[in-house]
Amino acid sequence: MGRTSGLLYRIRGGVHPPSSKDLTAEKQIRRIEAPATVTIPMRQHIGAPCTPRVKKGDEVLVGTVIGDSEAFVSAPIHSSVSGKVVQVAPQPHPAGGEVLAAIIENDGEYRRDPSLAPPSPWEDMQPEEIRKEVRSAGMVGLGGAAFPTHVKLSPPREYPIDTVILNGAECEPFLTSDYRLLLEEPDAVLEGMRIIMRAVGARRGIVAVEDNKPKAIKAMETCVRGSGIEVASLRTRYPQGAEKVLIANLLHREVPSGGLPMHVGVVVNNVGTAYAIARRFSEGMPLVERVVTVTGSVVREPSNLMVPLGTGFSHAVEACGGFTEPPAKVIMGGPMMGLAQYTLEVPVVKGTSGILALSWKEARYSEPAEPVCIRCGRCVDVCPMGLIPTYLGTYAHNEKWDLLQRLHIEDCIECGCCTYTCPTKNPLVQLIKTGKAELARRRQHAERRESENRAAAEKSEGAGKDG
Ligand code: SF4
Ligand code: SF4
Repeated sequence: MGRTSGLLYRIRGGVHPPSSKDLTAEKQIRRIEAPATVTIPMRQHIGAPCTPRVKKGDEVLVGTVIGDSEAFVSAPIHSSVSGKVVQVAPQPHPAGGEVLAAIIENDGEYRRDPSLAPPSPWEDMQPEEIRKEVRSAGMVGLGGAAFPTHVKLSPPREYPIDTVILNGAECEPFLTSDYRLLLEEPDAVLEGMRIIMRAVGARRGIVAVEDNKPKAIKAMETCVRGSGIEVASLRTRYPQGAEKVLIANLLHREVPSGGLPMHVGVVVNNVGTAYAIARRFSEGMPLVERVVTVTGSVVREPSNLMVPLGTGFSHAVEACGGFTEPPAKVIMGGPMMGLAQYTLEVPVVKGTSGILALSWKEARYSEPAEPVCIRCGRCVDVCPMGLIPTYLGTYAHNEKWDLLQRLHIEDCIECGCCTYTCPTKNPLVQLIKTGKAELARRRQHAERRESENRAAAEKSEGAGKDG
């Protein structure tokens, strides 16, 4: 099967920021060596952080497990180099704060752990075996969210999956790492998608790509011929690649408020994740490197790099010739949803899709000026989730927690369209993020108190019986 149809798939709301992808779109992925030391944090995914499995002085090889957790929502972490662990200590993390990390001195030999071997052909494996393999390889969503992949591939029995969508929209400006994988490794990407489909028992597969990437669409159309998998061309508009938006546009199914794609029979995976899964099954490689777009007008040679995890941002930037002038802002990810960095001495982690260095001119438009509302309604028009961002921002600012919940703040996908479009530069998404974080904190607090109360009640009941 070829393309599902033409440019049918429009987004509700959304914005059209300058794509700025031309800086790296034609740059072939280039593999770089890791620096003399890599810093590999024990938290690189949503869920429980890992506990170190190594200590100072241990020898490790490429693919040696250096961190793991008993929790279901977690994924093991492997060494990206061979060498010696010189320290296990808290280090700055690109998602903010400090996180326990293994610092490994790289011996430059890249000797592979002998336990790494390709598993049986996936066609011969049961879904459960595939999921175990995906977990042991430390796979997480490489689009930036870093949700452990084996969890996504384990929907409960009551939510059968009929469709897998491979997310190649890459709608964030500047980023081209998925685009390059679609162009350079279409067979491996497709193989990864077929493995995912087998793991969840889906019969339908759709590769979704924005229509500003005609070469990638063509490469995938050629590749999927005869496989039964479809290629969907999406009208270019941000945030076309948000999974709930993709599902609504491609399948006309609405993920319920607070729900997940599996609740409507769908699993969405990123292109990079599919590629990494395919490598696990063909080479036995766990997730120890990823493609990173290093870009921005102040980067001397904007590039797409295959980077060993744990490599410092500064090293990746140096591999691109360094900066032409000091950047005004460095962001991990794209300009709409990425995380601003205060230092380049943070490591590339599984969720690092890009390192974006903006000039003063580029960075200025996102700076808040007067955070006031003139009730123009533009933020409401562009919200792809049908929310009322201006009220969410105001209520978060005024700490009206009940009202925030009533307006479904949890459905905000933090795409940043509202902030981008606001004429008064009201920092809506920042206010909403703060509101969501506070609500989550309150929920956890309430749950803790409830379980303490329950434990106390059980204890006193037990004491009564004893008496
Ligand atoms: S876009 Fe900005 S000014 Fe307009 S309604 Fe929304 S918050 Fe107010
Ligand atoms: S409210 Fe959330 S989902 Fe809506 S535009 Fe703003 S950031 Fe995006």
